[in-house]
Amino acid sequence: MSLALARKYRPKSFAGVAVQSHVSDTLRGAIARGRVAHGYLLCGPRGTGKTTLARVLAMALNCENKQSDGEPCGECVSCQRIWSGSSSLDVVEIDAASNRGVDDARELRERAMYAPSGEDRYKVYIVDEAHMLTREAWNALLKILEEPPPRVVFVFATTEPQKIAQSAAPVLSRLQRFDLKRIGIPEITRRLETVLGSEKIPATADALGMIARSADGSMRDALSLTDQVISIGEGELTADRVREALGLVPEDEYLGVIDLIATKKAGDIFETVRRLADGGVDFGVFLSGLGDMIRAQLAVVLNGRADGISPHALASLEAHRDEFAASDLLRMLQMLSTIEPQFRRSSQQQLLVEMLLVRFALLDRSVTIEEVLQTLGGGGTRGGEERTVARARPPQTDARPATRPASQSSPAQAPHASHSSHPAAKDLPAQPVLSPPTPPLRVTPSAEQSAIATQAAPSKSHEGPGWRAELDQTAASSARPRLTTEAVRQERLAMLRAQDPVLDAAVRELDLDLLD
Ligand SMILES: [Zn+2]
Repeated sequence: MSLALARKYRPKSFAGVAVQSHVSDTLRGAIARGRVAHGYLLCGPRGTGKTTLARVLAMALNCENKQSDGEPCGECVSCQRIWSGSSSLDVVEIDAASNRGVDDARELRERAMYAPSGEDRYKVYIVDEAHMLTREAWNALLKILEEPPPRVVFVFATTEPQKIAQSAAPVLSRLQRFDLKRIGIPEITRRLETVLGSEKIPATADALGMIARSADGSMRDALSLTDQVISIGEGELTADRVREALGLVPEDEYLGVIDLIATKKAGDIFETVRRLADGGVDFGVFLSGLGDMIRAQLAVVLNGRADGISPHALASLEAHRDEFAASDLLRMLQMLSTIEPQFRRSSQQQLLVEMLLVRFALLDRSVTIEEVLQTLGGGGTRGGEERTVARARPPQTDARPATRPASQSSPAQAPHASHSSHPAAKDLPAQPVLSPPTPPLRVTPSAEQSAIATQAAPSKSHEGPGWRAELDQTAASSARPRLTTEAVRQERLAMLRAQDPVLDAAVRELDLDLLD
């Protein structure tokens, strides 16, 4: 079997880690000026080049033909040995995740006392997963770092620096810390192009985009995934091959779902989800892919650039441009991120996906002021009055349990109605149109009415005692139709739920799952 790409193309110089130039340039400069510190701490997410940089540093310190700018030659015996990770007397790699006892700390301390193998050589300890070291190990290391032996360098690599700060703060102050950044999709894509170019394997742009997105900021993962894709076929790397190798969902499925949401065909969601389930789709993968597609749709709606999708998908999203408001897409993305943590643990993933998609399809869309004014212009004032009545209802049902605690026993509908109005209330902040520019208030003192106001809505501070705040009817009219639809929907839902206890339980369950 051929060498894994991640190993074969591991950078041999600081310039090769250009993605982290803020770190590699500094280290190279330190080598060139002969001002290398005794201890370094490299922090950053996995696969961002921590160990690679540590090895390049070790190569540069020990290179027989070091260049004047601080770069190692990458060719001499010492460079080759260190680069390949094979036995080098002067470079010791320690995985703290597997060696973390007191004995190891003692051993480390004793071994660090040994001088490097030659006059002009450096002993470099590379400690991976350094946050796993015990307090005792850190104490031993602190003693070494307080009086470091000549030509001994420690490089600690960690994904969780805050844990080191907790257990070994004194050590931190003796280390030079560098923070490596998560690697972006364009940078990963460029690197994949270079690597595949050297391997003489052609690849389409959307195939590389898919691999880069799946790699989630890790160059090592990107190259391993590429290995995986290469292993299942010949010739050009295409989007289909990537999908097959990585178990990704075909792009058309996402476009189909976006289509169902745009056209509000909630009933067709079930068939789509069943087809995905039959196809053995991992719903976690599906949701993250759907998130990407909704993000792309958002970019299209905002006239931004939708990266990493095919021209075919772009055309489809362009066609839906006018059917989505940015705020609606943002709400969907927010709902997706809200259910994600519990989704992974859930044993009802298919059900959760169905419910989420149905919610997306039934989502009350934000309406622009222009559309509202157009509707009002055609509908006349009578419709407006009816809407006022409908709109006044939800606050009343909400207030009922507070003013009449005994109502639990009387009308069967009351508890349901108050239940159903809660999700709506939670949705409020996410819907810009539901909180329209505050209409002018007409404030009139009225003792009799203030009593009602404080009873019905004690929390509203602007309706203080002795004053009655009243929305100016003309100004408020623009917001009315939007609220009406919501109120009517809530009312219908309350009725349905009152009739069917199973539905009631299901809806309540869903609300808990999706909103809490
Ligand atoms: Zn060399």
